[in-house]
Amino acid sequence: MPSVFIKTYGCQMNVRDSEQVARDLASRGYDLVEREEGADVVLLNTCSVRDMAEQKAIGKMKTLAGRKKRHQHQVIGFLGCMAQSRGSAILDDLPGVDLVVGTQKFHEVGRHVDTLFRQRREKTEPARIVDIAEETGSQNTIRDHLLAPRQVSAFVSIMQGCNMHCTFCIVPSTRGAERSRPIAEIVAEVESLVQQGVKEVTLLGQIVNLYGRHEFPVAAGRSPFTQLLHAVCAVPGIERVRFTSPHPIGFKDDLVACFRDLPNLCEHVHLPLQSGSDRILKAMHRAYTREGYLRLVEKLRAAHPGIAFTTDVIVGFPGETEDDFRQTCELVREVAFDNAFVFRYSPRHDTPAATMEGQLSEALKMERNQVLLRLLDEIAERRVKELLGREDQILVEGESRTNPDRFQGRTRTNRLVLIDANERWRGELLPVHLTESTGFTWYAEPVLV
Ligand code: SF4
Repeated sequence: MPSVFIKTYGCQMNVRDSEQVARDLASRGYDLVEREEGADVVLLNTCSVRDMAEQKAIGKMKTLAGRKKRHQHQVIGFLGCMAQSRGSAILDDLPGVDLVVGTQKFHEVGRHVDTLFRQRREKTEPARIVDIAEETGSQNTIRDHLLAPRQVSAFVSIMQGCNMHCTFCIVPSTRGAERSRPIAEIVAEVESLVQQGVKEVTLLGQIVNLYGRHEFPVAAGRSPFTQLLHAVCAVPGIERVRFTSPHPIGFKDDLVACFRDLPNLCEHVHLPLQSGSDRILKAMHRAYTREGYLRLVEKLRAAHPGIAFTTDVIVGFPGETEDDFRQTCELVREVAFDNAFVFRYSPRHDTPAATMEGQLSEALKMERNQVLLRLLDEIAERRVKELLGREDQILVEGESRTNPDRFQGRTRTNRLVLIDANERWRGELLPVHLTESTGFTWYAEPVLV
């Protein structure tokens, strides 16, 4: 059967969607390969969150299309957010592309690839397929896994889409309106993962803690998401549960209490801030204030002392003054985040912020980006002094992505830890001593009893 190479850009949701596509193609008999060279099918699962992400995928596709002259039978396709936002225009811009599949049609990729190959075999005029329609229930099609041997950590997609409409964000137009999967189906998926040896699941959604707000009722004072968390944490054999990416407004007291009451809910929250200035938060339509954000952090720290926070911050949003930026730095210093993804504002087409007054220069965005990264380094240095020598527990996932002589794992607070590779530890919940750190990557030794 033909070989398939899938390259994924962007977020964990894209990684999970690519896994489902890979699983479908494998079940149709295609061979999944690790390299694009010589692959019969090359699929790029794309991201539109920033212009740079799109340019990377376009650059890659141009290279592939150039090589295709030597592989006339090859099928190359664009999937995901960029496919959704640009649709058939991609065919005009990139002649070598045969397939464009949007974010609600990942379950159709296998059928389309079959069609394109049948046409090649039958030497009929190869059609070029564009499938970006919306499909009710498409969120329920991301449910199967292609686990690696002894894989102990897995993503579980619980919903798709977002109704928030932050003024800088293209996600609502690429991922559509919020649609959630039934609790029972998600719990069954987690049970099946545990039976296959998985010990940790990360629940995924663009606005994960507002899961089910349009579909499922509040019960016993618990939101649908809190009901789901309790159900997933109760699955026998699940050691650790995480979720990403939440929105601050979705943290009501029932969810905050989960960090006190659910022992296998990991004490780490990725809590996007975006800005520390109320004026800019308003212009972003973020629906919270800096005070509200700080109060939420306090509540979560009261529910679980030692809880770790990471965040997303945009620098250089239109109209951002020195004082707005100063307030962002102040809030970052006050929360003392474990880490933060700092993004220079990138205008996205058809988003309100793209046409706002006061667009800032790339140079100023870069300058503020550097200032914030230096502040994060300072915070990390202090944390290293605080934690070095301490004992912690990691779930050993396997080979480090950067150093084959090392295994990697994560603490419950989501800190990345490297240990000397030893098959004995693969897949284990391992107590370790933290011995060294770069501030963002930690090194440790197993605690030998
Ligand atoms: S909540 Fe997140 S995904 Fe939704 S519009 Fe805002 S930034 Fe985008």
